[in-house]
Amino acid sequence: MTGESWREDALCRQTDPALYFPEAGGSPRDAKEVCEACDVRRECLAYALDTGQQHGVWGGVDQRELRRLQRARRHAQAA
Ligand code: SF4
Repeated sequence: MTGESWREDALCRQTDPALYFPEAGGSPRDAKEVCEACDVRRECLAYALDTGQQHGVWGGVDQRELRRLQRARRHAQAA
């Protein structure tokens, strides 16, 4: 799968986009459950990491987890 063609198979296209960007204090759990069944989860997470996404649920990972992964990636690249 190249570029952003994975978006065509994104399961979240069939759901409410607001699920993926919960209000402060809101739970990302419903979005993460959809992601678990999504065929392009890996591509989605790679895209989020590659493009430095800071908000929302991507690839089954909420924004706190996403930022943690981004920090770990930066540390690995600096090493
Ligand atoms: S992994 Fe989740 S956020 Fe990413 S495309 Fe699939 S359903 Fe959407």
